[in-house]
Amino acid sequence: MFPSFSLRYARLPERMRAASQPTPVEEARLVAFNRELAEELGFELAAFEADEASEIFAGNRLPEGAEPVAMAYAGHQFGNFVPQLGDGRALLLGEVIDRHDRIRDIQLKGSGRTPFSRGGDGRSPLGPVLREYLVSEAMHALGIPTTRALAAVTTGERVFRRIPEPGAVLTRVASSHVRVGTFQYFAARGDTEAVRLLADEAIARHYPHLADRTDGGERYLALLDAVAERQAELVAGWMGVGFIHGVMNTDNTAISGETIDYGPCAFMDTFDPRTVYSSIDEQGRYAYVNQPVIIQWNLARFAETLVPLIDSDGERAVERATPIIRDFSERFEVRWREVMRVKLGLVTEEEGDGELAQALLDAMRDGRADFHLTFRYLADGVEASAEAPRLRENFASQDELEAWLPRWRERLARESVATDDIVARLNAANPAVIPRNHRVAEAIAAAEEGDFGPFEALLAVITDPYTTPDGDVDYMRPPRDEEKVLRTFCGT
Ligand code: AMP
Ligand code: MG
Repeated sequence: MFPSFSLRYARLPERMRAASQPTPVEEARLVAFNRELAEELGFELAAFEADEASEIFAGNRLPEGAEPVAMAYAGHQFGNFVPQLGDGRALLLGEVIDRHDRIRDIQLKGSGRTPFSRGGDGRSPLGPVLREYLVSEAMHALGIPTTRALAAVTTGERVFRRIPEPGAVLTRVASSHVRVGTFQYFAARGDTEAVRLLADEAIARHYPHLADRTDGGERYLALLDAVAERQAELVAGWMGVGFIHGVMNTDNTAISGETIDYGPCAFMDTFDPRTVYSSIDEQGRYAYVNQPVIIQWNLARFAETLVPLIDSDGERAVERATPIIRDFSERFEVRWREVMRVKLGLVTEEEGDGELAQALLDAMRDGRADFHLTFRYLADGVEASAEAPRLRENFASQDELEAWLPRWRERLARESVATDDIVARLNAANPAVIPRNHRVAEAIAAAEEGDFGPFEALLAVITDPYTTPDGDVDYMRPPRDEEKVLRTFCGT
């Protein structure tokens, strides 16, 4: 059933990883399996057997050719450097070459203790597994780079967090699991050779067009630049869907530019740029509005690890890398304006587009509007004669919206595109359904009682996000006061 493994990371020097085996679980039961992704990865689905799959995705049995390793990494957690983190509850089974010839990692998360577990149990509760499954698949459907969810298995065991919870294992697929923190692990140990190996692996896997640059310094500088570009694109994408990652530590920032490590993450309901969900983020470091600045900070940490590769003269290396970090905010702004233009139904580019987008966001904040419904229902307001009740009702106070709408229509009038076309563009750019936090919580609560129906129903609508759900617009609805989830807890 499994495609064959190509084993790249397991062949890197031993100090970069730790060979480790999954700890078997009591009673493996496959509760979710992503057939479409499996197909893409080259699984033979004709030979698919649920019992065998449960055993494999629980870590009770290894697929042929797998050589599981826990990857070493460090990281800045909430700004503080921790020299050793590593996969404490995850194991990379190996890499496969998918049907599009791309290298993909297959990793079990929640598969038991590893040499990097420190005090942890290596396990994962069902809640965080389902949250990651739902949110990562939604992210993919929204066209934003992300790790994917291939399977979820319950273990028949309890894990103890604040209270005992049912245990589960997630199978995650990534274009690689190398993080800024992976580079930091070796840089902090003065192991320039390992940093170089990692950088070369990152170039080979994610930025192959850089591989033929013969000048080493140029090549690694270009790597920094390419990662900065992907991260600008990624975070702009998050901002455009009202997503808050929640724990943007450097160990949760992937070199590939994919969203990784879904913990206490959420899509925002009522728009407030200062929104924070994570229960452990007391200072609001990772609030929605801070995400672009934080990613710039993380990129600066990445740049530091590359210094010895960029130039043997440290000062010159810093001089060469600095503009990439310094100019990141401009680069981000360009990406952000692109995202917002599409959300506003604009095809061409004009000077004031950024301000136009910002003015809508300000109106949303002041009017306590729901992020998603505002954008989804913009299509109702294209025509000046439109009453657009769904759009207007979404704002508690509408003055700013009323001032904004004519500005936007004026701008739309300068696009040589028919109204129908603009409406179609708006609906293709602004999702009807995202996994709202209260819906995710509800699906998890039911699953914890053994009912996976709500999880499956939610998964079905959020993986088709631009379509208004048939008969069940309830999925689009923001939470009522009593349904609001104000805090989400860490995925540990
Ligand atoms: P996270 O905050 O989930 O990104 O994880 C931070 C670090 O804690 C990583 O090194 C994880 O592998 C480790 N970790 C998280 N949960 C556990 C657990 N239950 N057992 C062992 N290590 C864990
Ligand atoms: Mg992490």
